[in-house]
Amino acid sequence: MPSGYEAVIGLEVHAQLTTASKAFCSCPTEFGAQPNVNVCPICLGHPGTLPVLNKNLVAYAVMMGLATQCSIRETSTFSRKNYFYPDLPKGYQVTQYADPICYGGSVEIETDNGIKHIGITRIHMEEDAGKSIHDLDIDTLVDLNRAGVPLIEIVSEPDIRTPHEAYQYLQQIRQILVYLGICDGNLEEGSLRCDANISIRPIGQEKFGTRREVKNLNSFRNVEKAIEYEIGAQIEIVSNGGSVVQQTLMWDAGTQQTKVMRSKELAHDYRYFPEPDLVPVVVSNEWREELRSGLPELALAKKRRLVEEYGIPAYDASILVDDARVARFYETTCAQLEPRTAEAYKLVSNWTMTEMLRIMGEKKCSINDVGITSEQLASLVNSISSGTISSKTAKELFPDMIGSDRSAQDFIEERGLRQISDEGAIKALVEDVVRNNPDNLKKYIEGKTNLFGFFVGQVLKASGGSANPTMVSTLMKEALESSQSSNTVEE
Ligand code: ADP
Ligand code: MG
Ligand code: ZN
Repeated sequence: MPSGYEAVIGLEVHAQLTTASKAFCSCPTEFGAQPNVNVCPICLGHPGTLPVLNKNLVAYAVMMGLATQCSIRETSTFSRKNYFYPDLPKGYQVTQYADPICYGGSVEIETDNGIKHIGITRIHMEEDAGKSIHDLDIDTLVDLNRAGVPLIEIVSEPDIRTPHEAYQYLQQIRQILVYLGICDGNLEEGSLRCDANISIRPIGQEKFGTRREVKNLNSFRNVEKAIEYEIGAQIEIVSNGGSVVQQTLMWDAGTQQTKVMRSKELAHDYRYFPEPDLVPVVVSNEWREELRSGLPELALAKKRRLVEEYGIPAYDASILVDDARVARFYETTCAQLEPRTAEAYKLVSNWTMTEMLRIMGEKKCSINDVGITSEQLASLVNSISSGTISSKTAKELFPDMIGSDRSAQDFIEERGLRQISDEGAIKALVEDVVRNNPDNLKKYIEGKTNLFGFFVGQVLKASGGSANPTMVSTLMKEALESSQSSNTVEE
């Protein structure tokens, strides 16, 4: 960073949980329903109604806490955070305040300087507000389907130092949530929301500067860009002799600038007080340990295991684990290899990263709907490993295998694609080609060595594409070298 300053960044991430029903009533949480149909007297805030806590909300919050090395509070309570807004019919949000259910955790990110731990201050449970729809010509409309949908808020320590670290941290949080199956992780659709707290300080100073909070960061790119912009803006304020005041800002993706919304609200503005309608939440040791033992292997651990077990590059592993189903497909395919060698593991990784992911992108589908099963991919890789077909033939075969439910062997037999790996047969073809192209041979010997490709191509053509290209190449090299030396001797 220029100008002798360093940034200090802490993120607050709201994750909408994928429980079937809302936090305190039995209304469905499904997205995309007609406005104001998933509502009842409880989430509409009718007087006299009583909330009932959704057990899965607690379970999901504990799972996230355990996955991020948090301590789990045995007894925690809900509070009311009071404010007025048209999409908040009760006039308060039920949240946790003094005693959040999870606290004191951390998440690992991989930076250029190695692994860095970003502290998690707290994870607390709360309910979402409804949605105000402003961008219509008529008026502002309110949709209360979202009112009462369960959220967890994950608050980081101010351990983040660069926009890119913020990006990586958010990626990690998202990946953990998705792996746990408790949030769909979609920033664009708002099921994951991020606010960034940013301050700057002269390098070497220990004391933090005053922070400003940027809201409305609805994509990973925007998170990085907004923080970048905000750091620059604060350095400019300070460089011009001003000082940063605590404020809440909005990121405007249109102008690519942050703009001040309001001076920062303080806790006392919300008149937090204990929610009288809900009993304290108790997470017994037994339940906590039951949830812990049900946690899946998380992405970072899986990535390290894939590198260790299959010897694939870390780059490959991180792409494969990005989607847990892809990683599972990779491992299931590897289990069916014959023989199970490092080369074959790498081939499966290559095919998965290029062909499978490409089709997933084109069809916008999951790996299970590509139309190629792990059995089929294993059969294809096995045919390459055994030298039965070349990689080139495999590439040609692959599109026809999609949706066919048939193995590579079936196609190879049916189409007579078995490649010639018989040395004698290939040698005969090589000798024919050399003999039948005296002009080019002469040129080759005189130094036009880029004719090598021509000679190889002639052999492949003569074999109808079925000669093993690696063998053709080796044998052709031998043949040309020997005619070269015999030629030199003659002169
Ligand atoms: P609030 O609700 O007032 O925003 P929270 O405790 O929910 O407060 O969140 C505060 C966030 O700001 C945390 O992520 C914390 O790490 C971060 N933070 C605190 N002090 C600073 C600072 N001086 N500079 C940057 N970030 C900070
Ligand atoms: Mg905040
Ligand atoms: Zn309801």
